[in-house]
Amino acid sequence: MRKKIVAGNWKMNMNYDEGLELAASLDQYFSEKAPSGAEVIICPPFIHLAGISQNLKSGNVALGAQNCASEASGAFTGEVSADMIRSTGAEYVIIGHSERRSYYNEDDSLLNKKTVLALNSGLKVIFCCGEIKEEREDGSYFEVVKRQIEKGLFPLAAKEMKNIIIAYEPVWAIGTGLTATPDQAQEMHLHIRELVREKYGTEIADKLTILYGGSCKPSNASDIFSRPDVDGGLIGGASLKKDDFTAIVEAMKQT
Ligand code: PEP
Repeated sequence: MRKKIVAGNWKMNMNYDEGLELAASLDQYFSEKAPSGAEVIICPPFIHLAGISQNLKSGNVALGAQNCASEASGAFTGEVSADMIRSTGAEYVIIGHSERRSYYNEDDSLLNKKTVLALNSGLKVIFCCGEIKEEREDGSYFEVVKRQIEKGLFPLAAKEMKNIIIAYEPVWAIGTGLTATPDQAQEMHLHIRELVREKYGTEIADKLTILYGGSCKPSNASDIFSRPDVDGGLIGGASLKKDDFTAIVEAMKQT
């Protein structure tokens, strides 16, 4: 059985007090209604990590960061290292989100460097990939995602792949209200799993958790999650509302 995950990417939202409050109410909810069969992760801004980490009591909500530095330590003003993230109690980090790729010019080799540093620090990596609208329209989307995975992840050793989660996030669906159809998600997830199977073998491919991200909400989550290669979701906007996020986790539990 593969691990099912629902992860919330808060992006640059929520001031510190608001973030603590949302995390506490999710923690309370999941202490009463354990997300059995699915792991719940929240990924707030860096400055929230330590405070939220100390306040999570249920053991049913894990913590992740949204990014990490591409260097281990030193004179890199404004950066936050993978080691620092891990030291807060966070267990995950998102790497390669399309907003990092496009607004901060993070390319495949930089993302591989970050991934290696994160794994070396003991973090698990949620590695994002996905095509832009033009690539969906010109039919190159399988090739684009293949390149992102091959360059970003395939330098890793097989034992490192065990700590990787892949999130397929078609860029045209992120924050737009447009969602990939369950069929579009399934065919890309299968494509990704087959790439991993070819490179690392069946055991690693079958255990790999592949999340869908892109305007996932309570009304479409169960349809998308019902597909065999969709193992959960990376949720942006809807992760900022407790009722929406918990409804998405409930949809995952029912698959
Ligand atoms: C995301 O940014 O990872 C994301 C999936 O956003 P949204 O759910 O808002 O489309």
